[in-house]
Amino acid sequence: MAQQDTDQQTAAKAGGVLPVDDEGFVVDTENPEEREAAYRGRGTSRPITVVGNPVLHKECKDVTEFDDELAQLVDDMFASQRTAEGVGLAANQIGVDKKVFVYDCPDDEGKRHVGVVCNPVLQDLPAEQRRLDDGNEGCLSVPTAYAELARPDYAVVKGQDEKGNPITVRGTGFFARCLQHETDHLYGYLYIDRLSKRDRKDALKQMEEGTPRYEVVPND
Ligand SMILES: [Zn+2]
Repeated sequence: MAQQDTDQQTAAKAGGVLPVDDEGFVVDTENPEEREAAYRGRGTSRPITVVGNPVLHKECKDVTEFDDELAQLVDDMFASQRTAEGVGLAANQIGVDKKVFVYDCPDDEGKRHVGVVCNPVLQDLPAEQRRLDDGNEGCLSVPTAYAELARPDYAVVKGQDEKGNPITVRGTGFFARCLQHETDHLYGYLYIDRLSKRDRKDALKQMEEGTPRYEVVPND
């Protein structure tokens, strides 16, 4: 979607967390280290939920209150993401049933993107704007497993920042994969749900045989 939205630009300029470029996309590549460290520094790392935990397998609730509680959640998510060495984290991965994800992820040019998206909606893009990319994918909620999964190499997500301002985020390469993966989480899907039966089984086997390098929430 390279859709532009003048209202959105105005809203973001009037108090958005991040600046907006002249095409209407949020600029999430400025001072990434500093911004990530600020979030993380205020947060507390929490254990990660894993496949089988019901919170990961249903659609999360929309964020409606952009308050201190949400700000604390976002900080905790950045702290948890760092502890688990992730490039993206959805709220239900720390057990919270809310549509918000954070990311700290490089794109196909190696540029580091850091940001927050509430109530994300993946935009349908015309075929000429996307090519399928056969990348390797993993998930903190399926620890130690990886699988090849073809996804479009360009993605656009519309949502809101943690203050409630409308934002549009776009990503290429690995970051495009991340935006799709994290949005999926908030609708109750893991990347292994997009694999063939056989590859899914293999991923679960890898998980069973591996030991996560971070704390996870045990399933009952
Ligand atoms: Zn994941």
